[in-house]
Amino acid sequence: VRFSPRENAPPRPILKTINHYPGAIAQSSRLFTAMKIVIIGSGIVGATIAYELAQNPDHQITVLDRQPHPVQPDQTACPTSTGAALGVLMAAISKKEKGRNLRMRLAGVDWYDRIIPELEAITQRAIPVNRQGILMLQFSDDRLEPWEHLIPLRQTQNRRLEIWDIPKLQQHCPQINLTNIIAGIYSPDDRQINPVTLTQNLITAAQTKGVTFQFGCEITHINHLAGQVTTISTNQGSIECDRLIIAAGLGSLGLTQALNQPLPLQPVLGQAIHLKTTQPLGQPDFQPVITGHDIHLVPIAPQEYWVGATVEFGTEQPDPQNFQQLMDAAIELWPGLAQAETFRQWYGLRPRPDGRSAPVIEPLAGYQNVLLATAHYRNGVLLAPATAMAVADWLS
Ligand SMILES: Cc1cc2nc3c(=O)[nH]c(=O)nc-3n(C[C@H](O)[C@H](O)[C@H](O)COP(=O)(O)OP(=O)(O)OC[C@H]3O[C@@H](n4cnc5c(N)ncnc54)[C@H](O)[C@@H]3O)c2cc1C
Repeated sequence: VRFSPRENAPPRPILKTINHYPGAIAQSSRLFTAMKIVIIGSGIVGATIAYELAQNPDHQITVLDRQPHPVQPDQTACPTSTGAALGVLMAAISKKEKGRNLRMRLAGVDWYDRIIPELEAITQRAIPVNRQGILMLQFSDDRLEPWEHLIPLRQTQNRRLEIWDIPKLQQHCPQINLTNIIAGIYSPDDRQINPVTLTQNLITAAQTKGVTFQFGCEITHINHLAGQVTTISTNQGSIECDRLIIAAGLGSLGLTQALNQPLPLQPVLGQAIHLKTTQPLGQPDFQPVITGHDIHLVPIAPQEYWVGATVEFGTEQPDPQNFQQLMDAAIELWPGLAQAETFRQWYGLRPRPDGRSAPVIEPLAGYQNVLLATAHYRNGVLLAPATAMAVADWLS
């Protein structure tokens, strides 16, 4: 089956976007055969893969997740990484000049720009997206030369970056305390998306295209023969499997252990908070994500902000001291937060690969029909679309 739009389906030029950049993930031919595909994990990564693969109606796709339901909003101890994420998509504002990771980042933003209207039309549910860009603050010990070098490079990649001096920062973002700040890097083409609504919409849209999701699904055994996974045994019955995609975030460690090929992963805890301010912060009609000292101020509604996140190694329990440091630093940068009311405070765990760079998208050693699509660490929302495209390539 040639992967091309059906007569009545709108064309989806996935290849164009990613091939736009030199050396993009190779996507010459998209030859598919009908397959029983099992995806383990329905976080942002598994849900995006399911939606992307569902473009081929011949596949029989089943997504298994041990959570009792799709990712939920407003939790405190988030059981999945996606439930805790801020959804900041740092693509053009990344300092990377070239390479696979940058291409994946840029492709992610392009994919969301194209797919979100499609998802909203299918599900009839709006997905909150901030299209006012990201402003990254630069401090007295930062150097601006790398950015001056990056700006023309980004132009060749169809992205804009601007260096804002202090008067411009004062004019556009008066909510910032400019002590110790020397400039801001403004990236108008980057985005922020509500990760929970996005994932829920991807799941619903994939379901409408025929994907089966089984929640509350505990995997009891992965059966394999001569390097081929054949069936997955679960508390809900047995599922035949031609191709297995492991997109289970931190749960990927246990699954790969069960297949005797453990992928070492480390949880890295992040705490964040939802605040309501007494006054509008800055200009009401210009509310980009602002980031400084690795802390994001994420506008999510008038006078409502997410602030996060801490990066805590070697623990699965949030440290109140780390949270206090986050708040102190945030209030120093945005003094208007000092009187803010707390709506919710939460934490979650990021899946970080041990001793190698994130993410891990590769066949599982020793198996011919198992692919790892996991370990996205701090950028799973941003990198999920390019991951899904890479999975589609693997299948072809
Ligand atoms: C505080 C915080 C802030 C973040 N901010 C951002 C951000 O701004 N931008 C960004 O891009 N990224 C951000 N991230 C990172 C991002 O959240 C992750 O990289 C991403 O969510 C990983 O997605 P995933 O689908 O791989 O994992 P998950 O969301 O954890 O999903 C994995 C799924 O697999 C299921 N599962 C696991 N094991 C099994 C099993 N054995 N059987 C069945 N099901 C199983 C789980 O139940 C879960 O639903 C942030 C993370 C945190 C914690």
